[in-house]
Amino acid sequence: MTQEQNNGFATEYRQILSQIDRVDPVKYAKTRNFADGAVTRLSPYVSRGVISTRMILEKILGLGLAFDRTEKFIQELAWRDYWQQIWVSKGDTINSDLKQPQQDVAHQQMPLALVNAATGINAIDEAIEELYQSGYMHNHMRMYVAAVACNIGKSHWRMPAQWMYYHLLDGDWASNALSWQWVAGSNANKKYFANQDNINKYFHCNQKNTFLDRTYAELVQIQAPPVLVHSLQLSLPCDLPDNRTIQLDPQLPTLVYNYYNLDPAWRQNEKANRILLLEPALFNEYPVAPKNIDFMLKLADNIPGIQLFCGEFEQLQKLASPVAIIYKEHPLNRHYKGQQDPREWMFQVQGYFPSFFAFWKHCKKEIKAW
Ligand SMILES: Cc1cc2nc3c(=O)[nH]c(=O)nc-3n(C[C@H](O)[C@H](O)[C@H](O)COP(=O)(O)OP(=O)(O)OC[C@H]3O[C@@H](n4cnc5c(N)ncnc54)[C@H](O)[C@@H]3O)c2cc1C
Repeated sequence: MTQEQNNGFATEYRQILSQIDRVDPVKYAKTRNFADGAVTRLSPYVSRGVISTRMILEKILGLGLAFDRTEKFIQELAWRDYWQQIWVSKGDTINSDLKQPQQDVAHQQMPLALVNAATGINAIDEAIEELYQSGYMHNHMRMYVAAVACNIGKSHWRMPAQWMYYHLLDGDWASNALSWQWVAGSNANKKYFANQDNINKYFHCNQKNTFLDRTYAELVQIQAPPVLVHSLQLSLPCDLPDNRTIQLDPQLPTLVYNYYNLDPAWRQNEKANRILLLEPALFNEYPVAPKNIDFMLKLADNIPGIQLFCGEFEQLQKLASPVAIIYKEHPLNRHYKGQQDPREWMFQVQGYFPSFFAFWKHCKKEIKAW
């Protein structure tokens, strides 16, 4: 399989960079909510840390367009950093209901009809099949799926979120868990609902007589329809590659890469041992599908001399001692020991903001100052 054929997502660094050049922020603003809108499909590369939101922002600002023409795109990009900042500030508490308990929860499982892509809502079922195949799902569709699981099917958000994270090529636990919580109303003032008319409009279909073919006043009161009543405790198997012996040069520092940092430009001109660390304990807690492991390994090929190590950080630390270990800051690396490099945020704005727009207000000031 060539890199280009990897489920429609290139894995070669040069191709990824050229994809940033093709972003059209003006068309994006007008069409992004539609199934065939000018979305960028850059998220798998941002999530895997191959490129940063900052890199994309600089490219967009470099286009020299008036701010009001690029604002919508930059704002959407900033959601990524917003969710990450919450993860940094709140740590593992994002794994539970963040602002308030999710209301009207019938169970903690996953509706079977979603797993089987058999809800009867054609656009949703097709999108789930597509997710299983390619690892991508449009943002608006992610919202529909989460609303069906949590607000119509009455699941608690956590297990359905893990299911989606497992299958997404761009799985990012902050964007994922916090968006699910936003839809389910545990990280927002109210739950998000979409009816069949909305889906028909944005996904260019014309389905009628489904359980979503109702007014919003009806939808907020709906009992779980029979098709969503069956639920199951998911098992999400995650097989890591076999471990191999690594060779470390004791004269050189060791740079640690992982599922969230595959940046080929990171300290690229320095002589170093480069290790892709895959920790079984972490993948046990946040499992991902085989195609995502495969995608990650292909992205790692962009880093010359990188060696794979499947084991816990402490095991690597013993092997690397006494050389310096260097890694990039990330909430899942808090147990690493060594020298921590900062990551490239879009803005200087740091910390927890209870609403995106409070965060965005500060970001906007920085853009204006540029
Ligand atoms: C229920 C749910 C689960 C989600 N899970 C994830 C996830 O696991 N990983 C993930 O990367 N995103 C997640 N998102 C956010 C969003 O759906 C994706 O980032 C976006 O669809 C990626 O496609 P794109 O690159 O074509 O985005 P575009 O629309 O082209 O946006 C450009 C970039 O901006 C950022 N961005 C845009 N919208 C959002 C958003 N709402 N939240 C965060 N960042 C955004 C992304 O980095 C994206 O690559 C989730 C959203 C929902 C509603």
